[in-house]
Order: sequence, then C-alpha cells, then structure tokens
Amino acid sequence: MSNATPASDFVPAIGAGHRKALDWIQSGPKRMLIGGQWVNSVSGKTFETINPATEESLVWVAEAEAVDIDAAVVAARRAFEAPTWAGISPHARTRHLLKIADAVEQHAEELAAIETLDNGMPLSASASRVAQVAEIFRYYAGWPTKIYGTTNPTDSSRFIYMLREPMGVCGLINAWNVPLVMAAMKIAPALACGNTAILKPAEQTPLTTLRLAELIEESGLPPGVLNIVPGFGATAGSALVSHPGVDKVAFTGSTAVGKLILQASAANMKKVTLELGGKSPNIIFPDGDVDRALETAVATFCGNSGQICSAGTRLFVHESLHDEATERIASIAATYKVGSPFDADTKLGPLISAKQMERVLSYVDVGKSAGASLNLGGSRVGELGYFVEPTVFSGVSNDMKIAREEIFGPVLSIIPFKDEDDAVFKGNDTEYGLASAVWTRDVSRAHRVARALKAGRVWINTYAEADAVMSMGGYKQSGFGREMGAESIDAYTQTKSVLMRL
Ligand code: NAD
Repeated sequence: MSNATPASDFVPAIGAGHRKALDWIQSGPKRMLIGGQWVNSVSGKTFETINPATEESLVWVAEAEAVDIDAAVVAARRAFEAPTWAGISPHARTRHLLKIADAVEQHAEELAAIETLDNGMPLSASASRVAQVAEIFRYYAGWPTKIYGTTNPTDSSRFIYMLREPMGVCGLINAWNVPLVMAAMKIAPALACGNTAILKPAEQTPLTTLRLAELIEESGLPPGVLNIVPGFGATAGSALVSHPGVDKVAFTGSTAVGKLILQASAANMKKVTLELGGKSPNIIFPDGDVDRALETAVATFCGNSGQICSAGTRLFVHESLHDEATERIASIAATYKVGSPFDADTKLGPLISAKQMERVLSYVDVGKSAGASLNLGGSRVGELGYFVEPTVFSGVSNDMKIAREEIFGPVLSIIPFKDEDDAVFKGNDTEYGLASAVWTRDVSRAHRVARALKAGRVWINTYAEADAVMSMGGYKQSGFGREMGAESIDAYTQTKSVLMRL
C-alpha cells in the first residue's frame, strides 16, 4: 500500500501565488487571442476546464472552431508580413524573447499554481517547470542573431549563397501533460526564427498557455504574432492542421493522433514535426550505481504521475538483480505520497481525468491477467480526484501488453535481461523510440549501449534530466523532427539557395 492521502482529506494553506492564480481564474471566462484581441468564439461556445484533484470546475474557456481558426490564420499571416515583425532586426526579436522570460519569472508563483490547479502536477514540479520555461525563452533569445546562411564555394563567374528564412505561419498543437513547458518549447523557437504562431493548447489544460499569452501581449509583442485558440482536437485542431494558410505544424501528442496530423497536413505539404508517445527502456547493469539507479527509476515512473512521454516505464534489470530490485523499487515507491498537489510532501498528484484514470487502471487488470506479479499499488486513491497509487509489476516479459503500450500513468514494468545484447535487443524491441537510459560504471559499455539504443535521447547514469540545449524527439513511431536545442532552429526555418551569374 502506498503512502496515500486523498486530496479531500488535506486542505493546504493558500500561498500568495496560489491566491493570484485563483483570482485570475475566477476573474471570468477566458477568451481566445486573435490578432492582439481577446475575443469570444464566433459561435459563442465555451468549454469547462476541471481541477483534476477536486473534480471541480475551474472556469469556462472560449471554444475555437474552424471559423475562429480562419480568423487566426488571417491575423498571423498579416503579422508575418507586417514591418513591425518581418522588418525588425534579429536584436529586436532577442529583446522580445528576453522580456517574455522576465515576465515569466516575475509571475512564476502564479503560473505554477495555475498549472497545478489545471493539470494536477505537484506545486514543486510546476515551480521547476516554470523555471524551465524562463530558461527556454532565454536560450532561444540568444538565437536570432546567430541564424546564419552560407556563402557557397563556386567558380569566379558565379556567386552562390544560402539564406535561412522563417517558415511563415506555424500551427502549434500541444498535449495536456506539461502544458506550459510545451508552449515555451514551440513559441520560443518559432518567434526566434521570425515566424508567427497559432497555438492550440490541449482542451484539458488551456489555462497556463492563456496566462502566458497575456504576459507575452503585455510585454509588447506585435498583434497577431502569437495567437491562442483553445478548443478540441477534432474541430479546432484539425482545422488548424488542414488549413491551407498554415505553413508548418508542430504537434505534441499521441502517436495515433500524430498519424492523423500527417494525413491532414499533406494537402498543402506543410512542414511537420511530431513529438509522440514512448515506452522508454531504463537499463540497469549490476556494475552501475544500483542504489541511485533504483531511486531514480522510481522518480521517473512516478514523475507527473507517469504522464510523461519519456518516462522510463520499462525497467530492465539484470536477472541477478531482479528480485532484490523489485523489492527495493516497491519499498521506495511505497513512500511516495499521493495527495493534494499543493501539499509540499506530495509526490504524485492526480491523473488528468476520469477517462485517463480508468485507462490506467484497466492496464493494471491487463498486467495481472497476463501473469505479471503486482508488487505494489494498482488502485485508485480516495473517491474524489483522479488519484492512482504508484504501481509496480515485476516478472514482466517484453511481449506483454503492459510492456508494449504507452499507459501514461504511474505503472512500472520490471523486466529481467541476461546480458548486454539481450538488454539492448529488448530495449529496442518496441514500436517507440523516444528516450532511454543506461546505468553502468563501465565507460565502454555506457557508450556502446548509448549508440545501440534506438531513441532520440539516451541518458547515462541519470534519467529525465533536460536542458534547453539538448534536443528531444523520436525514432520510429515516437515521431520525427526534433524540438529544443539548435535543432528547433532548423525545424522553424527553411533554406533558400541563390545563384547569381556575375
Ligand atoms: P492527444 O494526441 O489525444 O492530443 C494532443 C493534442 O492534439 C490535443 O491538443 C488535442 O486536442 C489535439 N488533437 C486531437 N485530435 C486531433 C486532430 N484530429 N487534429 C488535430 N489535433 C488533434 O494526446 P494527449 O492524450 O493530449 O497527450 C498524451 C500523449 O502525448 C501521449 O501519447 C504522450 O506520450 C504524448 N506526448 C509526447 C511528448 C513528446 O515530446 N514526444 C510530450 C508530451 C506528450
């Protein structure tokens, strides 16, 4: 049994950031941002966003549909061509991004509390996510003055050069699991490269994106450069990805929807980047720092209640370690407190929705019926809020459904391996390839395995550490294209070669 306190049993003191967040949320229904104006949807429709810890309604939000997307595309196109954006110097774009980073830091506590209310992640986690957001804007603030073209070698009768130019109007679509960070990961490089953007946040968690957009507007970004269109995937999302006036789509979400995005964007050959699902291997060799590896393994599968695309949900341990590792993982995870995300001791807040909770619990039944041993958890916590215990399965084989499908909840599969080849083979035996980790003190093995793993990220002797300089993205069905680091600059620019006969 894990250390669980249902949110309903805990009433945390309301801090200043939390108070500001509530004041902002309660100040009235939220509108969408189009062309520098906060507007209702043309239909007048709204949708409700829910606090997953309490199941209470937070606020109603304007619901964009195709006609609103049309208006956003017109505004973004106009802004893209306007001298106030197209004509400004790279230094000016840098200043815009630095001002946004400052505004994020000035409102850090409020943003963190809004994220926690809307998404359910523990406040300590949302506070560090907000710090990451400021870092992302600062990192990309450094780029506008460094986006070079080339002059290309040729004979004396010709001059050949290459220009690196923005894509144009970018349609950005995000998932609900880390909404503010994902907004920053798309907005910052898009603007650094001189694009304009239309962002559709996930319908479950639109609030921090809207608050961030208010701060960005107040910081003086020209109207129409950033537009926010909250709404549902089948209406707002699909209208955005199929719109002929959108030049590029950057999508973060499930692999199933990623395939729809590819199809919809084919009509006008949009440039597409896709950040999709994962089922990432975390491989512990007996010659590694096993204590730290096990502590970290728990932190990674429980982080954000397992709702992290790169979570290490398949833990490969050498067969000699399997039983001991299972026992220790279960006892560490049992100390992880499930409860109100505003309680400083909480490690696991709620899942995002009743639907997600039911999906996760249904995988527990699947694991049990496949013959895996349930060593910890497996149940809902309390009756209010979508809380699920840390759940540990051992003796899992890599072909079981719980080891193959993305569960997106706090569920770990412990899988034994025989030797290095077996670990690499099993680690790669998945349709996904988002992230991976290897724990060993053997330097050669560390680099050998890092090379052999087919994943967009490999951590050695750590897990889930991120830095704005480091790209992320998927091999195989975890997507294509990369976000973060210099690779986002490639993703938000296109090149033009010019040849002049002298
Ligand atoms: P989802 O695919 O259901 O939805 C993601 C977004 O797409 C939402 O904004 C949704 O409204 C929109 N959408 C849905 N249908 C659409 C359509 N037909 N056209 C256009 N847009 C549409 O995913 P989710 O459940 O919100 O998020 C969880 C998934 O996201 C997991 O699979 C997770 O691994 C993945 N994810 C990946 C990364 C990454 O960086 N690779 C990061 C976070 C989450």
